Amino acid sequence: MELHELQRLYKEHLGEANHPRLAAYIALVEEVGELAQEVLNLEIYDKNEKANLLQDEIADVFICILELCDIYRIDLESVFLEKFRKVSEKARNEWCNSLTPLLKQKREQIDT
Ligand SMILES: [Mg+2]
Repeated sequence: MELHELQRLYKEHLGEANHPRLAAYIALVEEVGELAQEVLNLEIYDKNEKANLLQDEIADVFICILELCDIYRIDLESVFLEKFRKVSEKARNEWCNSLTPLLKQKREQIDT
C-alpha cells in the first residue's frame, strides 16, 4: 500500500473524527511521548515483555501524522520523497566522510 492510499484510508475511516488543528498537533506530541516511554521501557527498564507496545506507539504516531496531513491537506508521499531526496543527497555528499564512521562506532559501542 502506498502513502497516498494510507492517507485516503485515514480520511475515509477517521477523517470525520479529526481533532481541531491545534489539538491534532498536541495529540502527535502526546503519542511521541508514549513512544519515548516504550523506548525507555525496552532500553532502560528492561521491560522486554512490552515490545509489542513499541509497535503500537509507532503506529499511533503515524496515525497522528496522517491526521495532520489530512487537516493541512499535505500530500505525504510527495513531501516525503522530496525531503528524502535532499537528505539522501546530503548523506552521500556530506555525512559519508565525516558522520557515518562516527555513528557506526557509536552504534557498536552503545547498541551491542
Ligand atoms: Mg499511544
